[in-house]
Amino acid sequence: MFSRISHKMILTFLLVSVIPISIAGIYSINLATDSFQSLTLEYTQMDLSSSAEEIYDFINYNKSDMTFLSKSPALRDYFLARATHSQSEIERWKGLLEEHFLIFCESRSIYEKVSYIDEDGNMVVSVEGDGASFEVNSDIIENFSTQQFFIETMKLNEDQAFITAASASSTKKTTLVTYAVPVFDEFERRRGIIYSTMSAEYFLKPLNESILVDEPIKKGSSLFLISNTNVYLTHRVGEEMDSGSIVEIASLVLSGREDITSGRSGTIADLQNWIITYTPIFFDQNDTEEFLVLVEVMEKAAVFSKVETFSDAFLILITSAIFISILAAIIITQTITKPLKELIAGTKRIAKKELSFQVKNPSDDEFGFLANSFNDMAKELEIAYSELEDKVKQRTIRLQLANEKLRALIKELKEANEKTKEASKLKSQFIANMSHELRTPLNSIIGFTDVLLDDENLDEEQKDYLKTILKNSESLLQLINDILDLSKIEANKMEIVYQKVKVEELLRRVHKLMAPLVAEKSIYISYECLPNLEIYVDKSKLRQIMINLLTNAIKFNKISGKVKTTVSYLNEEMDAVKFEVWDSGIGIQEKNFEAIFDEFQQIDGTETRDYQGTGLGLAISKKYVEMMGGTIWVNSVYGQWSKFSFILPVSPGEKDNDIQ
Ligand code: ADP
Repeated sequence: MFSRISHKMILTFLLVSVIPISIAGIYSINLATDSFQSLTLEYTQMDLSSSAEEIYDFINYNKSDMTFLSKSPALRDYFLARATHSQSEIERWKGLLEEHFLIFCESRSIYEKVSYIDEDGNMVVSVEGDGASFEVNSDIIENFSTQQFFIETMKLNEDQAFITAASASSTKKTTLVTYAVPVFDEFERRRGIIYSTMSAEYFLKPLNESILVDEPIKKGSSLFLISNTNVYLTHRVGEEMDSGSIVEIASLVLSGREDITSGRSGTIADLQNWIITYTPIFFDQNDTEEFLVLVEVMEKAAVFSKVETFSDAFLILITSAIFISILAAIIITQTITKPLKELIAGTKRIAKKELSFQVKNPSDDEFGFLANSFNDMAKELEIAYSELEDKVKQRTIRLQLANEKLRALIKELKEANEKTKEASKLKSQFIANMSHELRTPLNSIIGFTDVLLDDENLDEEQKDYLKTILKNSESLLQLINDILDLSKIEANKMEIVYQKVKVEELLRRVHKLMAPLVAEKSIYISYECLPNLEIYVDKSKLRQIMINLLTNAIKFNKISGKVKTTVSYLNEEMDAVKFEVWDSGIGIQEKNFEAIFDEFQQIDGTETRDYQGTGLGLAISKKYVEMMGGTIWVNSVYGQWSKFSFILPVSPGEKDNDIQ
């Protein structure tokens, strides 16, 4: 699918741009969402904590109100009256105390009820009101000695307070927060408690004052206070928040009571529509049973609307980046591949021998350079091709001419060859005839010279002349015989006649023939041969070979030299026999080892010049040996000895290859 460069480039482009952009984009969105969410929550939490602190300060402030009241001089005066004065006097001081309590309530205007209960649990003074107007209500005789708040408060030390939000008002459906502090007289004796109640709603006062409703993030969010029994709403209650939802949220927060009683603030973020943050507020740090919880509920959609806007913007950004990348990839790829495609089309046309093809309108860039080079190359190719065609034509013509000449030459050569064959045939014929014609008179000369030499009337000088005639005639006859043999061999008229030959007998006869020559030079001649060695060869030819080699061995030997012939089997298979003729003569230089076997070859040295001969003996011997399937060669140390060796198969049936 991605075999073409354009596809590969687009794919690469997408890989290197789109994937990193997408990863970075998604990562950034997630990161932004997360940090925005945690920032919002952190901010809300901080906000909530500072509000909680304000409430806590408010509680403490009220507590110190009570402590202040418990130490008021009016109360001390009342105690004094009780100890020393009459009942009417006591009533007067009580009236003053009631006045004091009334002024206090009116000045603070947050308490619903402020009372003094004596050490026996009897209510002495009580001021009640609705925050706006107050009245003394001390005539009701009420005993609180069994009430829990009384018992608990009576156990407290100075500066300690009993605060609870649990006691509900009988008339109003609202939680009343109770403050109670112990009262001591100047002698540090317990003289009862100061007891006050106020609607828990007053706790919202500092909150309502401090709410920054302008904060955009807080728009649509709700802030409220939960006690054990009730929920107090601040001014900030979102439109979406109905009473059912509030109750649901309150119970949800309180269900995490353990978290709250350990004083921890928290967040519930896994709801569908809301994010809830809460902070517990304790009346007394040491009492974790009595608490309020400040709760802030934010609409998820409102919180994340900004993030979503950001994400949407980012998503659009990423999509456009990807789109632009793809577009850029396509444009760049097109820019690069278009000239390449043209070049490829060009190469195809040139391959079809359209050598005049040129790439049109090359650009100024590297591709243009490539296209120009391509055009130059095509032009040069066209020129070279046409030149080549011319040359081929010329060469073809020359070749045809040369062929014709060659044919004529071959014809001439054939004719010449025919003529040579004819001439050779005639030469052999002529030599055979001539030899015959020469041998007849020569034999007569030799015969008559021999007869004349027997004449006793001849003097020594005449005898010498006759001997010279005889010797030269014999040499001439030998030469003629040799030439005749050679021409027969060349004319393929020499035939081999195989017969059983007893080698030792043959050697004996040949050595006997050598006797006059040996005697002439006092040569010591000997032979060695297996007694019953028999081979199948042409007897006369073997005889002729042996005569030739022995004649040479004696001829080129010194006076009193040695000649030794050895015949033995070549190997264990006994299928060939090796003949060796050794002499202690003048020897042969290595460079002449081969030449001496050629016809009419005599070594051109002063020494050999002295010896008579025709230069045909070795040539004929070599031909005979080879005709019988053997080989012949020489070894020598110049000036010391020579050894001529030849091998013949035991019978003509033996393979040539077996002969070494
Ligand atoms: P020829 O003996 O008639 O000259 P050959 O063909 O028999 O011709 O020998 C060729 C040459 O080889 C000789 O002329 C001689 O120079 C050399 N030659 C042959 N046999 C011997 C030998 N036994 N010792 C030294 N030289 C030899």
